[in-house]
Amino acid sequence: MNIRVRFPPSPTGFCHVGTARMAVLNYLFARKHGGVIIFRSEDTDKERSTKEFEEDITDNLTWLGLSWDEFYRQSERTEIYRAAIHKLIAEGKAYISDEESKKDASVMVKIIRLKNPGTKITFTDTIRGDITFDTTELGDFAIARAENDPLYHLAVVVDDGDMGITHVIRGEDHISNTPRQILIQEALGLPRPVYAHYPLHLAADRSKLSKRKGDVAVRSYREKGYLAPALLNYLATLGWTAPSGKEILSLEEMIGEFELADIHKSGAVFDVEKLNWYNRHYLQALPLPDFAAESNAILKASLGARDIAWNEAAATSLAPLTRERIAVWEELREHAQAGEYDFFFAEPRLDSSRIPQGKVSTADTIRHLESVKQFLTAAPLDTYDDPERIKAAVWEYAGTEGRGAVLWPLRYSLTGLERSPDPFEVAHLIGKEATLRRIDAALLAISKI
Ligand code: GLU
Repeated sequence: MNIRVRFPPSPTGFCHVGTARMAVLNYLFARKHGGVIIFRSEDTDKERSTKEFEEDITDNLTWLGLSWDEFYRQSERTEIYRAAIHKLIAEGKAYISDEESKKDASVMVKIIRLKNPGTKITFTDTIRGDITFDTTELGDFAIARAENDPLYHLAVVVDDGDMGITHVIRGEDHISNTPRQILIQEALGLPRPVYAHYPLHLAADRSKLSKRKGDVAVRSYREKGYLAPALLNYLATLGWTAPSGKEILSLEEMIGEFELADIHKSGAVFDVEKLNWYNRHYLQALPLPDFAAESNAILKASLGARDIAWNEAAATSLAPLTRERIAVWEELREHAQAGEYDFFFAEPRLDSSRIPQGKVSTADTIRHLESVKQFLTAAPLDTYDDPERIKAAVWEYAGTEGRGAVLWPLRYSLTGLERSPDPFEVAHLIGKEATLRRIDAALLAISKI
């Protein structure tokens, strides 16, 4: 069988993560079976559809790594719908009805309605099994406002038929549309595609995902600095488990393992923590030079905003540390904007009253800084190659005198920050000379208290 599936978004909003998930599932299925993917912009709602939204959808699906083979816009296919509606009327399967307008009862409007034979319809859903609907209660439902103005169900059915769609893979919010669509299909003598309605994913409180409950637009994840393969991998495995049990899969691996039958039967929760776990994995997997290029760009912008001189080589050597601390680029942006990396590029500005920690006296703080300075002066230069060795040089003393009392003033002297990487990591990064110089500067500042 030549498999043909469709991505049929309505361009009435930014690319939603639900739209992306629909596209991912269709994509994996089609590519697995050597099928064809049709992108169909369902822009029949003229008031709400825009080119901007359509572009946002195509752009973000492409960013995720997806692609399609054919592209259509419903607004450009009016003639095809007109012919189908005309045929239904000519064959007595639909009729034009003069009715009061729903908006204004004094106005008469024309509506084209399908003559509903009122049968029971059973279809086999690949995910949910047999589903039966009694279509009597649907009545003669509307299919168009005029021959050249089709309603949603008519356009979908005509297109699915005309485009030779073999599999309709969509969210279960469309199940109740299926009997209407099958009735139109039968009236037009079109073949019935295979249906697979998958459970929608849910917000953390198991309600429908909505804007109020967090980000739903792919673009906002992209802006925060999520990586495309991470979001793709997350969306694919949200509600589908690969038979191998693997959670981290490349696009090729997902295609290899994908089967509709393995889609879960109950709705998964969209869990940002889990997405972050994926993203952290993909950030860690980036080649270090690629990571450093982006990390440097973020640091440079942030330091530039505070007029701190830029040092590219120094920034590059910082990349392993920035990478350890984040799951998403946005976090690095936040750390950088909070000045958490300034110590690396400029001497810290110290508030001398902050150097003694808690109840530790100024005299004791001076004594500890002097002692630490002695240990760190005596430590050979290569001690600074490894934070663990720097730690070893002062650890015993800090253990005897109190870690907070000794290590806080050291860390604060080196960074001028309330929060930063530990002092050994910092000393390793800035090197022996800067470490000793900063301890001296702190001692000078504290002596003036
Ligand atoms: N255009 C519809 C939507 O965005 C999808 C139609 C379908 O999957 O049949 O919800």
